[in-house]
Amino acid sequence: MEQLFCYGCHTLKDPTDFFICRSRKNGRQTRCKACQTRTREKHHLTHPEQEKATSAAYYLVHKDVLLPKHLQWKAEHRIELRIQGQVYYQNNKKKILLRSRQTYDTVTHSIKMSRWRKQNPEKNAALQRIRRARKSGATFIEKVLLKTIFSRDQGICSLCHKRVTRTQASLDHIIPLSKGGDHSHQNIALAHKSCNSKKNNRVVTQQMRLF
Ligand SMILES: [Zn+2]
Ligand SMILES: [Zn+2]
Repeated sequence: MEQLFCYGCHTLKDPTDFFICRSRKNGRQTRCKACQTRTREKHHLTHPEQEKATSAAYYLVHKDVLLPKHLQWKAEHRIELRIQGQVYYQNNKKKILLRSRQTYDTVTHSIKMSRWRKQNPEKNAALQRIRRARKSGATFIEKVLLKTIFSRDQGICSLCHKRVTRTQASLDHIIPLSKGGDHSHQNIALAHKSCNSKKNNRVVTQQMRLF
């Protein structure tokens, strides 16, 4: 294979080391791949805004082709990407935290959150329970909604076996989290708030499973 001269690094290289150029006689660019990449990287550093605009415009035009390709690639490299992200976070912790503190509007976020909490009290309570379970070191955690348990246990307290109103209802871990119980539908039963606090951290052996 005849070698081509690179006008960038002034050396002879294989034609495959050059990008294709249809308008030139030999069908290859005048500068080798490495030289072109170097220039592009340099340009990227000196003209970040222009580079961003160029690639954004390219993306807009080719979105139909690029997006599905990108999503597929992401799905195929899920695990590598996660590890890569964790490594990047560990190496750039300070920078990331600083940047998030600068761009992140704490006030707006907390207003949004408190509005969401008011609109979704059940979901919020479920999230709080997950947080508590995580803190107490539960190994299995799932999202448990009060209304799910309420309808499953048919509104009957699992401790005193009497009817519970929605305002008196609470969720009781059959095996307490502190004793290694899961935060799961299996390990959670409906109970009066009062019965629940009386039970405290003990495991009630006669607790009847109503489901
Ligand atoms: Zn070169
Ligand atoms: Zn009760």
